[in-house]
Amino acid sequence: MATRHLIIGGGTAGINAIRTIREEEREHSEITLVSAEPPYSRMVLPYYLDRSIAESHVFTATARVLAGWGVKTHLGRRAAALDPKAGTCTLDDGTAVPYDDCLIATGSSPVRAPVPGADGPRVHSFWTLDEARGVLAGIARGSHVVMVGAGFIAFTILNSILSLGARLTIVEMEPRILPRMIDGTGAGLVEAWLETHGVAIRTGARLARIEDAKGRKRLRFAAGGDLTCDLVIMATGIKTNLDWLKGSGVSVNRGVVVDDRLRSSADNVYAAGDVAEGRDLISGEPAVHAIEPTAQEHGRIAGANMAGRDVRYRGSLIINIVEVCHLDVASFGAWDDPKAEAASGVRADRPAYRKLLWRGDRLTGAIILGPSGDIWTTNDVGMLKGLVQSGAPLGAWKAHLKKNPFDVKLAFIASGITKALLPETILGRPAKAPGDTPVAV
Ligand SMILES: Cc1cc2nc3c(=O)[nH]c(=O)nc-3n(C[C@H](O)[C@H](O)[C@H](O)COP(=O)(O)OP(=O)(O)OC[C@H]3O[C@@H](n4cnc5c(N)ncnc54)[C@H](O)[C@@H]3O)c2cc1C
Repeated sequence: MATRHLIIGGGTAGINAIRTIREEEREHSEITLVSAEPPYSRMVLPYYLDRSIAESHVFTATARVLAGWGVKTHLGRRAAALDPKAGTCTLDDGTAVPYDDCLIATGSSPVRAPVPGADGPRVHSFWTLDEARGVLAGIARGSHVVMVGAGFIAFTILNSILSLGARLTIVEMEPRILPRMIDGTGAGLVEAWLETHGVAIRTGARLARIEDAKGRKRLRFAAGGDLTCDLVIMATGIKTNLDWLKGSGVSVNRGVVVDDRLRSSADNVYAAGDVAEGRDLISGEPAVHAIEPTAQEHGRIAGANMAGRDVRYRGSLIINIVEVCHLDVASFGAWDDPKAEAASGVRADRPAYRKLLWRGDRLTGAIILGPSGDIWTTNDVGMLKGLVQSGAPLGAWKAHLKKNPFDVKLAFIASGITKALLPETILGRPAKAPGDTPVAV
């Protein structure tokens, strides 16, 4: 009998797993996909919001494509319970789906600030396509939008909101913006840049409630100073979608605990993407990385192992890259490691900033910001990622970088990292050309 694979969640991790199973399997298997939403990429939603792509371009696999891949689907259905011993997943309509092995790829969901009025009309999250549709319908030229939360996701949609002709105010309860992506020096530069580009920012602002105000919204703060606006976006964090696994016996911590093969505590159950707690490349410790590259890599590794290969994952690198009003802002790896040796340089007039962090002579983290039009910024973003990802020993180049944190290129070239990184692949082989497998990659 053909092996029965069950994929739960049709986001980045789930779709990458399906494609990889089809690429790697020796005998054709049965694949079933259960997904609450149709397969699409959340990462491109900011481009849907600013209307630079049509809604149809958000989807990663249509029903026709899935049928072409030989995938049975339960779309619009949620997995409600998992019984690894029996090899069964029960859906929210009571359907029992049997499997030989399954992948949990249920991602995460947005969490709103716990204040009265947070669930009221014209208060939105921005995580799903439905929510993106709601925000798009609610913003008109001249609208005043208040974004609650100044984290990475808020920053991914900042340009789109401005390009719709809206006025934007960002409120953050921490004393600075991007508190989990860059340090205080970087945050100060980004904040000043945004203010010169017309974005109002309030930090250290604790939201107390949201009220209706004659067809508009009024945000009240613990320290006073109300804000009135047309639409509120809550970008106040996310949580992993784990609740449905209660009683399954699968070990969960901040995410589903997985080993280096992306296998959970149950032999026939894998997990991948935002919902999985896998190895962090730099620290080697378990971590949940709610980012696209991790979802992609997890999905590929889990898919290959489900197809019968034995592929070990070396861990995922935390990568945050965002561009706001033509300023590139990025951080990699352990950028906030208090025990690391660090060096930094600021050119406030551009503005540009580099912060490099080492353990021994290996670069373990970096923060970079600078104007997108500045060739140095674009090059350094890629090279710093390469240096952190490769973990290559820098020898004497460490001292050079400590003295000249803006001179990344020399150290990058001299350390021969390109040669080491180029042949690196997730599955130990190059991507397959269309036609070589049932799935074009
Ligand atoms: C606006 C926005 C911008 C972003 N920009 C970036 C970026 O620039 N760079 C970056 O690295 N990351 C970015 N991300 C994050 C990135 O999109 C996520 O890390 C990625 O989508 C995770 O993929 P996943 O497959 O783990 O989960 P998801 O893509 O969330 O997919 C999970 C799937 O599981 C389904 N599901 C949930 N519960 C159940 C259930 N019980 N039963 C069945 N199905 C279920 C969901 O409906 C969904 O289809 C962005 C996210 C957003 C929202």
